[in-house]
This record gives sequence, structure tokens and C-alpha cells, in this order.
Amino acid sequence: MLSFSISAFAHEHQSENAPVAIAIHGGAGTILKSSMTPEKEAAYKATLEQAVKHGYSLLKQGVPGEQAVVETIKLLEQSPLFNAGVGAVYTFDGKHELDASIMHGGTKNAGAVAGVTTIKSPIEAALLVMESSPHVMLSGKGAEQYAAENGLEQVDNTMFDTEFRKHALDKAKARMAQASAGYGSQQGNERFGTVGAVVLDKQGNIVAGTSTGGMTAKRYGRIGDSPIIGAGTYADNESCAVSATGHGEFFIRYHVAADICARMKYQGLSLSEAAGKVVNDILVEAKGDGGVIAIDSAGNIAMPFNSKGMYRASISTDGDVTVAIYKDAL
Ligand code: ASP
Repeated sequence: MLSFSISAFAHEHQSENAPVAIAIHGGAGTILKSSMTPEKEAAYKATLEQAVKHGYSLLKQGVPGEQAVVETIKLLEQSPLFNAGVGAVYTFDGKHELDASIMHGGTKNAGAVAGVTTIKSPIEAALLVMESSPHVMLSGKGAEQYAAENGLEQVDNTMFDTEFRKHALDKAKARMAQASAGYGSQQGNERFGTVGAVVLDKQGNIVAGTSTGGMTAKRYGRIGDSPIIGAGTYADNESCAVSATGHGEFFIRYHVAADICARMKYQGLSLSEAAGKVVNDILVEAKGDGGVIAIDSAGNIAMPFNSKGMYRASISTDGDVTVAIYKDAL
């Protein structure tokens, strides 16, 4: 008993000044300064800053990484600016099907939901699956039932509606009709806005989470990389924690998040070397556009992307805040 309380105290004491850090993204894609109004840009930056600071303050208070990730992502899910929760893209049939996942780098436990339509916060459901179920991924109706049975808030699918995503669906459908190539030609610039967070908590654990509406005009129950552990999300205290955004099919096929961690672990690359290699060499060669946010257990952060822009923000172990959208400038 005594040794337990002494070691508990030692642990608490040690973690009091332990470093914390956080990085978040709000999606990558053809985000051009020329097509952005100053008001829109300011709104994106303000929301990113608010979310990253919220997550950081939770971490500073000693809140475990998985909770900081969920609380941070919930703010982004509630913002209509991003393709997750409210503001999620539309499926071909005019609905919203949401995916999310979370992974803890210390326990290697993970949870995910895919193709859910009525769960208010998909990232909260992913955490529920991780913490309360013996499974890693639940999908569709079953995931919704499990979330409801465990008291997570359910909403009507129309709660996720926004005008500008409806417009994006109309544009995507027009392009599909024009291409007359049928299904498979719908990939455009309308999907971007997936959200994610990676953190280092005071306990020394790194955690990653991702939440998305997927791809505009998706059909047939299409699931992207975001809820797939190893593709869109991965965390391992011995290497790094990664949340991805981009053309999901490529991120699944190239196992992007886990590949970055594996390169650190087995090739001895630094975080930025490993993330840069996968995003700027391997994905570019494959023509898979997008980017990642990544953190290692020392709190180093990398946020490479091969698209025109990626909504992103971070707070380093020194407390330095960055909020950025485009490639060349903050
Ligand atoms: N990766 C997401 C998906 O393919 C979309 C995105 O990040 O923009 O579902």
C-alpha cells in the first residue's frame, strides 16, 4: 500500500512539469489564398486557434491525451467550417455518413466508427468503442445502437447540413455527369475539411484522433482512411502519433499513418524525416494528395502536406503557437 502511494506521488510529482504539446488539422486540399475572403480566412484561423488552445490547456491541467483529443475534435466537429460533424460533406444521396477513430500510443488501444449518420459526435463514439467495448471498429446502425445504449447524443442527420456543402455536392454531381465516366470520376476538391488532433500528454502518452464526413458524393457505403487504424490514424509511444487528411483511398493503400511510425521505429528516422518521406515522396509518386499531423513522445511536431494548403495549428512544448493554412505562409 505504502509503496503504491509513494510511487503514485512520485508519478504525479514527475508529471507536474512534464511537457505537453498538440497539433491539429482541419483538412488538406486545394485551398488557395486567391479563392479565400479575408473574413473566411479569419474565421478558419480563429476556430483553429480556439481549438488548439483548448486542447493545450486541458493537457496542461493533466487531462489524459485521449480526452484532450476528443474535446479538441468536438469543437471542430461543431464548427460548420470543417468536414466533420456539422459541415460534413454530402453523400451522393444527399445524406451525411461520418467516420472517426482514436488511438492511444501507450496502451495501443483503439476505437473507430464508420458510416454513422445520427451520432452527434463521432469522435466521442470512437472513444466509447475504445474504452468500453472489446472491439476496435463498429459501423452503421450497430455503431449507432451501441452509442445510443451508452448514452451518447443522437441527432437527426439534417443537423449536419450546411448550404456550402450542398453546393459542393451539386458541383460534384455536375462534374460527374459531364465526365460521363460514371462512378469513379467524382474526386474533386469538395471533400476537404476532415479534422484531427495529435497530442503528448503529461503522463508521457501520445494519442491521435481523426473525424470526417469523408468524400463529397460518396456512394455505396464508401469508407475512407479516417476510421481505419494504421491508415488515417495511428499512435505508438515508441514512435509517433499521426492523424491524416487527404484522398483516403491512397492513405488506405499506402497505410500512411502506420508507415510513418514504422519508419521512425525501424529505420531510425526522425519524425519530420519519416512524415516527409511518406507524404512528399511516396504519396506524391502515387498521386495521393493530402497531409498529416504527427507528434512524437518528445513532443516534436511535423505537419507535412503535398496539397496547396492544409488547415493546421500547433502548440509546442515551449508553448509556441502556430496557426497556418497555405504552404508558404502562416
Ligand atoms: N481522408 C478523408 C477521406 O478520404 C477525406 C479528407 O481527409 O479530406 O474520407
